[in-house]
Amino acid sequence: MTIGFIGIGIMGRPMAKNLIKAGYKLIVYDKFSKFDDLVSLGAEGGTSNRDVASKSDIIITMLPNSPQVKEVILGSGGVIEAVKPDQIVVDMSSIAPAASQEIGAALKAKGIAFLDAPVSGGEPKAVDATLAIMVGGDKKTFDAVKPILEKMGSSVTLVGDIGSGNVTKLANQIIVALNIAAVSEAFVLSTKAGVDPARVFDAIKGGLAGSTVMNAKIPMILDGNFNPGFRIELHIKDLQNALDTAHNLNVAVPLTAVIMETLQALKLDGMAANDHDAIIRYYEKLAKIEVRK
Ligand code: NAD
Repeated sequence: MTIGFIGIGIMGRPMAKNLIKAGYKLIVYDKFSKFDDLVSLGAEGGTSNRDVASKSDIIITMLPNSPQVKEVILGSGGVIEAVKPDQIVVDMSSIAPAASQEIGAALKAKGIAFLDAPVSGGEPKAVDATLAIMVGGDKKTFDAVKPILEKMGSSVTLVGDIGSGNVTKLANQIIVALNIAAVSEAFVLSTKAGVDPARVFDAIKGGLAGSTVMNAKIPMILDGNFNPGFRIELHIKDLQNALDTAHNLNVAVPLTAVIMETLQALKLDGMAANDHDAIIRYYEKLAKIEVRK
């Protein structure tokens, strides 16, 4: 079996490496990033999206957002021009659920199966192959691809039809952004009140306020580490998809709108490429204090 992998960025590179390590034959391609390291590990270097699609049984994409995924799969010179009915396309990017449905419908019209399978966990979990993978699509296609996804993640869950994977990812991104904001507001307050933030963390992390987000982000914040990780500009992209999806469904998401504006302010302050733990810098600026060791 040959797996085509398109999009060799922060996430795609370690994910493709794990598939090579697991013994799969890979053909890889990225329009802008180099992929010689994967070729030296045994992958074949593709020459275009179409080339990868014509030589693979399963095609995986890991790209920034809906426009890029649509261009690579449906655009001129794209995957759709070369795929045949026995092939499967799996998009692992975080994109708008409506875009996943559009791509799924276009592929279905040609008899090709599609899954949306975005991930959570960031680069460290992509490297360790412990990503959480949330999948939308039919059970037969899911069962066929699951053993491959399990080489990149420790949790692989079918959540519903095509688009459900990205609906789940949007829910994940709302919760993560708001959790970082709540942690930030609380730690700025306790620091301004003169209490050592490291002790506040020790005191509350095992209680109801404790969270994976707090455990991951407070140690980084105390060290003044705002290196990505997950960039603010990518979180803006996800929250824009969340707002658009919610408004199309006539759902009001007031807290999502507030944290979106916080991220916009941070972007204006030159922090678009920082980790999303830099959300605390917005609250630090309001209170004129820093939460550090
Ligand atoms: P990235 O920008 O590092 O990688 C995207 C890759 O796609 C780049 O190498 C780029 O050159 C390539 N690309 C763009 N347009 C292309 C085209 N037309 N043809 C071929 N290649 C093209 O981004 P990333 O951090 O790897 O994220 C990828 C996806 O995973 C995003 O949707 C992101 O939201 C999601 N995600 C990222 C993280 C994280 O922590 N970085 C965590 C979970 C999910």
